[in-house]
Amino acid sequence: MTTDLTTGAQRTELAAANPEHAHAADRVLRDLELPTGPVEFDVRNPATDEVIAKLPDAEPAEALEAIAGADEAGRDWAVTSPRQRADTLRRWYDLLLEHAEDIALLITREMGKPLAESRAEVTYGSDFVRWYAEQAVRPGGNVRDVPAGGGTLLTRRAPVGLSVLITPWNFPLAMATRKIAPALAAGCPVIIKPATLTPLTTHYSVGLAYRAGVPENLIQVITTTNAAAFSEAALADPRVRKVSFTGSTEVGKVLLRLAADNVLRSSMELGGNAPLIVFDDADLERAVNGTYSAKMRNGGQSCIAANRIYVQDGIADAFIEALTEKMSNAITGDGLADNVDLGPLIDGRAGASMQRLVDDAVAHGARMLTGGQAIVGPGNFFPPTVIDQVPTTADIAHSEIFGPIAAIQRFSTQAEVLQRANATEFGLAGYVFTENLDRALNLADALQTGLVGINQGAPSNAAAPFGGVKQSGLGREGSDEGLDEYQEIRFYNIARRGTA
Ligand code: NAD
Repeated sequence: MTTDLTTGAQRTELAAANPEHAHAADRVLRDLELPTGPVEFDVRNPATDEVIAKLPDAEPAEALEAIAGADEAGRDWAVTSPRQRADTLRRWYDLLLEHAEDIALLITREMGKPLAESRAEVTYGSDFVRWYAEQAVRPGGNVRDVPAGGGTLLTRRAPVGLSVLITPWNFPLAMATRKIAPALAAGCPVIIKPATLTPLTTHYSVGLAYRAGVPENLIQVITTTNAAAFSEAALADPRVRKVSFTGSTEVGKVLLRLAADNVLRSSMELGGNAPLIVFDDADLERAVNGTYSAKMRNGGQSCIAANRIYVQDGIADAFIEALTEKMSNAITGDGLADNVDLGPLIDGRAGASMQRLVDDAVAHGARMLTGGQAIVGPGNFFPPTVIDQVPTTADIAHSEIFGPIAAIQRFSTQAEVLQRANATEFGLAGYVFTENLDRALNLADALQTGLVGINQGAPSNAAAPFGGVKQSGLGREGSDEGLDEYQEIRFYNIARRGTA
């Protein structure tokens, strides 16, 4: 670390992109076939602030045209055989894997995360396509006799219809595939609106879906800087039957209000405020590694990131020392650098928000152990930061951090930590570290969250029903439940009389 003599700001040496990877990323960008429009917006590399692409800034009228095209294509798709849908998805999965490295380079270029994490996202994101290729031929339904006799109940599942999908910037591939794949498996056409910060991966991966044989117009990508006008127009259109959104709770509430007018099926994956609890009897190494991964994956810009870290008094000093050492050894830099652990934040607003949260915590009495000072640009870098003894009066004890700051509070008893962990309107993820199985399961049952990582910091899986309770969301993505979100359940009551 060096000090800038004119401003006094601390300058951390950032790891520079490996020229070979940078060259390969440039090639992927050059070869991208992107639409053009009369008005366009810039897509930037968050590690350098450079413009890397331009995309059309669509007006609501274009969203309505896309809806018309998807609606038309969806009629045929709804009556294709489950096997045909499965085979198409499987071919898409194969193409995603074939192009895995190019997709990973693109994710890093537009979103910033280290290339190793982008590669992991390609594996995770593609897995949804494979999973729903497998699920497409198991659409569900059942047969039951009327309990009082005289009839048979036949339950069937039908595609819910045209689905509007709105995705955030933090996992540009996985957030798209975990919506598109189940929608297509169920027989629905889709309009997808990616975040303007990271729309390139969506374009690339949807291009591969078309190469895999998805019928023309079935998946429509709309990019716009006026998300509110888009959603108002799209959700008011009577051809749309479903909205699936991943993003902030604030925007989710706006969309639910819009969805109410046409009584749309709604799936909402919203904000988190995950508690991570380390008990005295935890395996120290497992707890430190798990916390590091739950905190630092995606630079902390994940809805299930460990947000409030509670450590029991007996293990606190050893745990905090080991975590601080690991965090301060993490290498920050361009996501295309070799061995880099932490890339840039998505934009300058995120950097300013980190600084404000840290300064406020310190002003309220928290102890800074490492990091804490934004790194001078270009790019939006904030170092791995650990703050201990965070008082509940500090903003960071309540806000979704969305960055590489480990904010630690201490606790004495299980009852006390449970009460503090649940004292939030959010309920997406929670984490428990203990070697006592009874305690782990009892705690997991009592945590008001949709998912719990037990002795591990990366609980997501395409085969698991991901989603939140309380204000963290409605519905689930992944697993069998993810397909339910795109199906209507209907029953036929077949009257019966006589005997053979
Ligand atoms: P955001 O809500 O600002 O944006 C998400 C998407 O919504 C973007 O595509 C954006 O353009 C769009 N959008 C914004 N205003 C809109 C409007 N009025 N109508 C329609 N669309 C609109 O969120 P973000 O900053 O991109 O993402 C971070 C948030 O997402 C965090 O709160 C995080 O926890 C949450 N998130 C949740 C999950 C989950 O699965 N629960 C996953 C990832 C991120």
